[in-house]
Amino acid sequence: MDGDVLTRPAVLILLGPPGAGKGTQARRLEEKFGLVQLSTGDLLRAAVAEGTEAGKQAKAVMEAGGLVSDEIVIAILRDRLAQEDCQNGVILDGFPRTTVQAEALDVLLHETGQRINAAINLKVDDAAMVERISGRYTCADCGEGFHDSFKQPKVPGVCDNCGSTNMKRRADDNAETVASRLEAYHAQTAPLVSYYQTKGALAHIDAMGAIDDITTALGTVVSDAL
Ligand SMILES: [Zn+2]
Repeated sequence: MDGDVLTRPAVLILLGPPGAGKGTQARRLEEKFGLVQLSTGDLLRAAVAEGTEAGKQAKAVMEAGGLVSDEIVIAILRDRLAQEDCQNGVILDGFPRTTVQAEALDVLLHETGQRINAAINLKVDDAAMVERISGRYTCADCGEGFHDSFKQPKVPGVCDNCGSTNMKRRADDNAETVASRLEAYHAQTAPLVSYYQTKGALAHIDAMGAIDDITTALGTVVSDAL
């Protein structure tokens, strides 16, 4: 390992589909390692609010109804990485989304003397994810959560907590929608996974286990990568 590189703030990328618990795990990594999670939306909002040069450009594009270019996002990220709170390292969430963005990010990190320490792929079993997400429902009166397979109320249709029979399901939690959401995610992410695999920076974490077990596995990967 290159000693010079090790002194630079670490850059981690977290890849995982909706429902894989990415948000929870990212927060735990922030706490444990003093990292800062950076999502594209937050980066843009902060840069616009601060009125940085790149932020002004982003604002103009957004006000005209356009999509903020990769160049502007990279410029905003460059500014953000230099800030004091990022000096332990960052977790990128939602960027890069394409291999073109991944290449642009590599150029930026080459300039700043940083590198991708690890791209961590939260692996899910699609069929199990569909069952997990589409089986959820809640009591509309008290908010108690239930599940078709994993947590049935003692009396079918009656809330264990408050006795209500008013159960509700989210419309977008049906099996078909969840399956197509996962399919779209995999189609978008597969090229990135190959990209980081080729660079030897990819780590896989089984994201189907208990939340604490996933945290432990992630912690090991991150410790090794820092
Ligand atoms: Zn209830």
